[in-house]
Order: sequence, then structure tokens, then C-alpha cells
Amino acid sequence: MSIPCNAVQETLAWNQPLDEAGQQHVRTCEACRSFGEQLKILDALVMDHASVDIPPGFADRVMAGLSARPARVPRARHRLSHALEFRSVHWVLANIGLLVTLSNLVRFVLSLLVPSTASGGSL
Ligand SMILES: [Zn+2]
Repeated sequence: MSIPCNAVQETLAWNQPLDEAGQQHVRTCEACRSFGEQLKILDALVMDHASVDIPPGFADRVMAGLSARPARVPRARHRLSHALEFRSVHWVLANIGLLVTLSNLVRFVLSLLVPSTASGGSL
């Protein structure tokens, strides 16, 4: 049974050894043989450039620079989150909610005591 090209090429791409059927496939399939040769060229290019000397402490400086930069937050969202940090804003919002709740409670109690006001005042 023939192995599909994508299975052979995936094995090659992960740099894993091909079994006998895979090796036979590569010998007879031009696409997979070409793919394997391109991977070898790519590996050689990467190895040539992997020999660049990285200065000591480079990774630490990059990570320190990343953590020192503030996360970018959209301006409007930044202002809203900044405003919500103030306790006075919390207090005002809580009192507005309390007033709305109390006014609804008063209207409900009034509608029980005076049923005509709840139905628009007409009988
Ligand atoms: Zn193939």
C-alpha cells in the first residue's frame, strides 16, 4: 500500500526517520524527493545563520524591556478603567442604583395602595 505524500513530507519536515515504505516512496516520488532536498537546503541555511554570536545577557535585556513597557490599552478603554478606579465613582454609581431601586419600590407600593394610579387613573 502506498503512503500518501503528505504523510511522508510531514515525517521529513519533523526530521524524523522514514520507515522502509517511506524511503521507497521518496525514491519513486519526485515531489517528496524535491521536498526533502529543499528541507536539507533550508536546514543548511538555518545552521549557517545559527552561528551568529548573541551577546551575553541579550535575552535578559529583551525580557526586561518587554516587562518595562506598559501594555497598550485603547484610549477610551483606558479612560473608563481609570475612572472606575476612583471610589467616589463607585459611590455615585451605587447611590444611583439605590435611588432607582427605591423609586421603583415606592411606585410598586403606591400601585398596591392606589390601584387606579397603576392603570392610568381611569376606571
Ligand atoms: Zn510523494
